[in-house]
Amino acid sequence: MLLLIPGPVQTRPEVRACMAEDIAPWDEDFRDEYAAMRPRIVAIAGGNWGEHVSLPLPGCGHMIIESALRTFVPPGGTLLVVQNGGYADRLARLAREAGRSVVSLHGPDNRPMEPERLAAALAEHPECAHVALVVSETGTGIVNDPNVLGPVIAAAGRRMICDAVSGFGALPFRIADRPECDVVVFTSNKCLEGMPGFGFAVAPVARLEACRGNAGSWVMDLVDVHDHALRNGWGSFRFTPAVQALRAFGKAMDIYEAEGGQEGRLARYMRNRDVMREGLQALGFTPYVAPEHQGPIIVNVFQPVDPNWNFTKFRVAMKNKGVILSDFYTTDVPTMRFGCIGAIAESDIRLALSKVADVLDEMGVGARAAA
Ligand SMILES: *Cc1c(COP(=O)(O)O)cnc(C)c1O
Repeated sequence: MLLLIPGPVQTRPEVRACMAEDIAPWDEDFRDEYAAMRPRIVAIAGGNWGEHVSLPLPGCGHMIIESALRTFVPPGGTLLVVQNGGYADRLARLAREAGRSVVSLHGPDNRPMEPERLAAALAEHPECAHVALVVSETGTGIVNDPNVLGPVIAAAGRRMICDAVSGFGALPFRIADRPECDVVVFTSNKCLEGMPGFGFAVAPVARLEACRGNAGSWVMDLVDVHDHALRNGWGSFRFTPAVQALRAFGKAMDIYEAEGGQEGRLARYMRNRDVMREGLQALGFTPYVAPEHQGPIIVNVFQPVDPNWNFTKFRVAMKNKGVILSDFYTTDVPTMRFGCIGAIAESDIRLALSKVADVLDEMGVGARAAA
């Protein structure tokens, strides 16, 4: 199967093969393997080991996002959420349900938040000590660049929390260059192309002490993850982890580095994105996002208005031809998302586009442009 979805993404056979063995997380050989990963993860985030730390937690992306919100925003604290997409809506919900107050800075979901609007909102809301943003908005494919919004947050004397889950490892980001950043979170899957199963937070060590006691949850307390490592070693775990997924992540990092790290991966994804966007337009689809706001992770197009169109029928027919597509959309009007990330190349995109053409013909969908 070819996965053309924004997660879980296609992985390489060498990465999947790491899952085949029974291993114990507390075995000394695996402890060494894990301990060696932690500075590598900090390096991928552009941090300096010693000054910045990697804090892994088993689980999905939402779990590491909630952990970061709980750890860095004190109970009863208020954060401003840059809310211009469906994944930002999720972040706001995670914060509210964890008992934090949210000030929403809403914006259209087809373009990045303007720095001027963020500056004005921060001036209006001195109670917001933190700003949380979704870097690559998985609902539409736009990018809120922390290298653009971070300086606004720094100038206002606030702290930044980045949900970098969908673009981390491909989009340029160096935590050492963003001193206003309290934490950046991402997962083992998506652009790092490991197996799903782990979330990672990278944070400045100096910020952790001030956050002691914030989380209100033992499992999700990133300060406790750090304390435990200081007491028991960087290869230790508090609870039973998805150990095979972690071993596979080590292999995924080898492959990432061999591809040229962030620059190499971004170049491949941008090529995938260009082929995808141009190919979908050539088939008659209308992109949801204007070319100047189109990020490299996801291409979103309007669903056709043709009376023969049926999203579920289309998706199932694509699956029967070996291509898995996302089964939902977050926009107000019906759209569909095509992922450009994972262990896929231009040739895979071209193959998928030819299947899209076949399925549309079989369904008799002639009118494919937005109304
Ligand atoms: C994938 C993703 C998540 C996490 O999703 P999970 O299903 O919880 O792993 C969070 N934020 C963004 C922006 C994402 O793309």
